[in-house]
Amino acid sequence: MSSPIAESPVRSRCDHSEVEDLGNAGIVEFYRCTRCRDVVVVQGSRRWAVTAIHED
Ligand SMILES: [Zn+2]
Repeated sequence: MSSPIAESPVRSRCDHSEVEDLGNAGIVEFYRCTRCRDVVVVQGSRRWAVTAIHED
């Protein structure tokens, strides 16, 4: 079974420094970058950026 979302390293074109809080699921926190709209997933010291699906 494949995941509907793809994990990728945080890209250098955006450092996701401006994010809005999307909430959390246990120890994992979710944020959305207000610049590139990617979802930033944080677990402890680890961070992933999940490319947003653009619906517009
Ligand atoms: Zn970003």
